[in-house]
Amino acid sequence: NKAMRKKIVAGNWKMNMDYNEGLALFSEVINMVKDEATGSQQVVVCSPFIHLHSLAQLGKGYANIAIGAQNAHQNESGAFTGEISAKMIKSVGAVYVILGHSERRQYFGETNELLAKKTDTALANDLKPIFCIGETLQEREANTHFDVIKTQLAEGLFHLDETAFGKVVIAYEPVWAIGTGVTATSAQAQEIHAFIRAEIAAKYSQELADATTILYGGSCNPKNAAELFAQTDIDGGLIGGASLKSRDFTDIVKAFN
Ligand code: PGA
Repeated sequence: NKAMRKKIVAGNWKMNMDYNEGLALFSEVINMVKDEATGSQQVVVCSPFIHLHSLAQLGKGYANIAIGAQNAHQNESGAFTGEISAKMIKSVGAVYVILGHSERRQYFGETNELLAKKTDTALANDLKPIFCIGETLQEREANTHFDVIKTQLAEGLFHLDETAFGKVVIAYEPVWAIGTGVTATSAQAQEIHAFIRAEIAAKYSQELADATTILYGGSCNPKNAAELFAQTDIDGGLIGGASLKSRDFTDIVKAFN
């Protein structure tokens, strides 16, 4: 039952927006979405690290608007020049952290094993992971997409106990749909979302599966969002390109049902 879980539209700015551009965009977003997201609906903006503190300050007082980072280190602290820890992210007011985005997996060699550690460290510091999974085009064409998803869940998340797993948001992002303008059809997305929920039910319980928020990501835009979000097992979206325009992002938020 969809009513049992939190609905989220999360923006992923990736490596875009300098400091002032980011502040301006977020101010516009707040003004446009503050009356749209209500009840169990949440708007999350995942910015570069440099914006987090200021965005968290601007977003204070809006219960349904939260801030997230796009990555965090697996270690608590130490000699890791240039890295940012979960504790640091938490300390500036962020609530979420994207982990395992396909760009991190592809360009920074992040494996399921590493992501399991990052998940533990994020949770230990009271950050909620938005954990990304999804198959490549090659994997889909080879008909291995269900296996890929199953393995990403098993190796990245299923070491968690029920309480810890209950804090995780999952984002299904088929790699072939990210930034390509090619969206998964709502049927393709729903099929995988239902599969993910069934895997969670088999591993933990139906109750926990029913309570888990599963987002769709990959060329989600104001035109296709409503149909995607209407699917039984799709609880919102992770939005890349369209999150950089306040109007588009807001229109996607409005597609909540
Ligand atoms: P896109 O990116 O919306 O630009 O396809 C989604 C994502 O990478 O999270």
